Amino acid sequence: MNSPIRRAIGILGGGQLGQMLAQAGTSLGARFMVLDPGENPPAACVAGQIRAAYDDEAAAARLGQANEVVTYEFEHLALPAVAAAAAHAELHPSLKALETVQDRIRQKNFLAAQGIATAVFAPVLTEADLATAALAVPGKAVLKTARDGYDGKGQRRLATAVDLPAAWEALGRVPCVLEGFVTFSRELSLVSTRARDGQMVFYPLVENHHEHGILRLTTAPAADITADLQRQAEDAARALTEALAYVGTFTIEFFQVGDRLVVNEVAPRVHNSGHWTIEGAVTSQFENHVRALMGLPLGDTSPRGYAAMVNLVGVMPDPLALCALPGLHFHDYAKAPRRGRKLGHATLVDADPERLRQRVVEVLALGGFEV
Ligand code: AMP
Repeated sequence: MNSPIRRAIGILGGGQLGQMLAQAGTSLGARFMVLDPGENPPAACVAGQIRAAYDDEAAAARLGQANEVVTYEFEHLALPAVAAAAAHAELHPSLKALETVQDRIRQKNFLAAQGIATAVFAPVLTEADLATAALAVPGKAVLKTARDGYDGKGQRRLATAVDLPAAWEALGRVPCVLEGFVTFSRELSLVSTRARDGQMVFYPLVENHHEHGILRLTTAPAADITADLQRQAEDAARALTEALAYVGTFTIEFFQVGDRLVVNEVAPRVHNSGHWTIEGAVTSQFENHVRALMGLPLGDTSPRGYAAMVNLVGVMPDPLALCALPGLHFHDYAKAPRRGRKLGHATLVDADPERLRQRVVEVLALGGFEV
């Protein structure tokens, strides 16, 4: 290693992802500062805070000046502010990675250019694009805003292209992408981390279950993953991160269709479907991201058994009841409850997959969730 180890890390965003990054990195000797507009955001209990709007360029520049490396915990950031931080510190993942991924149209074009399979898609930027898009994607489809969508927000499902004008109207006539509906057997994701020197590590493919567009449950490793499926996923991660000269943790969400993987979307960051790695893998996705930022070799991604992560959404179940469940790892982001908001998560790790399944049922029941 010819580069020194960086210890001062700034994060754009102080939510639970920033909190878990700082928690993982503190034991490696790093210290953290977040830029976040909120009063007492989740990461503030383990990091310093610059309280400012995400698009405040002067504040982002201060974050860069006060740190050696800057990273971000979500992708819906104004590029000028990110560039202002990057003028004073290393930025990982790069501005190019952020710019490529934060716009769904740009992201899909990038995936296609790398030969990665996605749903058929067509951009809808203006009224004139409606007819072309309807021809390109004539059947069942999903219309998504090009920017700022997350947790299923900014999306409309279409039975046929006839519904397209009304759906675009409902999304506010903003730039969108129309995607063909993928009939998949299940949703999988791959979390990987790439170091500065190009070293890559991959976690096993995991299976994700969503409710109303929000991740509810991740099981890891996903059942019945053939060597070929894992290889398809890793090849995609390698190709995409190499093309972006990427440094840090990178996530790909897939639809499984037969024995092929179709990419839904990618995220330039640690991901909710990787939270299980905190207790369920030898090195967590958060620690590996921080290792990449610091310039340390990446850690072992092997699972420690079978793991399940349940998101606690909207209403927090009784912590006394949750923590009374043997072996449960409880994460409370200490956020005000709100419908559809991720308030925390619970992880279980077990040597026996069937016993794990029964324990997950208990957690889901405590949350009043459908089993
Ligand atoms: P997204 O925010 O793009 O991840 O979409 C949220 C959820 O909607 C996904 O996890 C899928 O369950 C579903 N979805 C999104 N795009 C498609 C598609 N093209 N075909 C079928 N289901 C989709």
